[in-house]
Amino acid sequence: MSKISETDYRKPQRQSFPDDELRYNWLPILFDAYTLIDEGVSEGIRREERQGRELACRKNCSSCCSTHQDIPVYPLELMGMSWYVIEKLQSPLREQLMQQLQRLDMLDSCPFLLSGACSIHPLRPMACRQFNVLGKPCAEGEDAFHTRRGDVMDPIPRYRDEAFDIMLPFYGVRDKAARRQAIKRGALHALARAMRDCTWGSLPAKMRAFDDLSK
Ligand code: SF4
Ligand code: SF4
Repeated sequence: MSKISETDYRKPQRQSFPDDELRYNWLPILFDAYTLIDEGVSEGIRREERQGRELACRKNCSSCCSTHQDIPVYPLELMGMSWYVIEKLQSPLREQLMQQLQRLDMLDSCPFLLSGACSIHPLRPMACRQFNVLGKPCAEGEDAFHTRRGDVMDPIPRYRDEAFDIMLPFYGVRDKAARRQAIKRGALHALARAMRDCTWGSLPAKMRAFDDLSK
């Protein structure tokens, strides 16, 4: 589900949208957290490579985007995904996604999967970034987590916890000790929603309104 490209994982780059990051104070928090997650994935892949194991995930390998039904998304991530879709997604993906989001009930896959690729790749959630499979690519419909758990990379806790630590002030937990406790208790998990349960159907109208305002 990472749909990570070799360049991405060899040298993770922080996303940079300076004007938007000034306008939306939560956006740099999200980018910083995603950078840490990506660095953790990168480090995890390097560790596996040192053991002679190779990442199977490749660009446009995407059966996991159909197989996984319960991808967790945190509120800050929801904001990021919505922002990207409404304000940044360019043609022709923009029109294709608008159409797709209008027939959500007919979809078997993630709403953002277009022609086998993630249309919101720069803003894909942490769960997608961290799901990486070694060895051979997943077969159609295979969830490697259940069929071959040993090939699914475990996130390195330090990077994930630091990413949560960066995000916690956004949720009102500013004190360092309180943040540490919240991470230890897994308090953030209670805020996550399943991606498919989110109200993506409202996005096309917001995209059109944004387009009208931008004319
Ligand atoms: S190998 Fe599996 S987890 Fe990796 S991108 Fe392909 S389908 Fe997804
Ligand atoms: S957001 Fe959807 S399409 Fe993108 S990587 Fe995650 S599951 Fe796949």
